Amino acid sequence: MSLGRLRKGDMVKVLAGKDKGKTGKVLKAIPEKGKIVIEKINIIKKHKKPDQKSKGGVVEKEGSVHISKVGLLCNKCNRAVRIKSKILEDGKKVRLCSKCNDVINVG
Ligand SMILES: [Zn+2]
Repeated sequence: MSLGRLRKGDMVKVLAGKDKGKTGKVLKAIPEKGKIVIEKINIIKKHKKPDQKSKGGVVEKEGSVHISKVGLLCNKCNRAVRIKSKILEDGKKVRLCSKCNDVINVG
């Protein structure tokens, strides 16, 4: 399973599910599952029992989101867009927004 053109540090927009319409930064990619973890998206509350280290309570943590539910965000268009790639003259590969042809930065 490939993560397509998404990678850590990308800004993405959620296209489906309870966080639909929200944007966030990719914190972690899980290529073997086709999932990513996005900052402040798909927050899961876990109840933690008190132990010797902490008092316990509710711990909030980001859950993973399937990549089919997100799109790469173009800052210029301010929406999730289709991406095309281009090889520059110096051999570098860049990602372009298919709407405005702007280079989408990483990180
Ligand atoms: Zn764009």
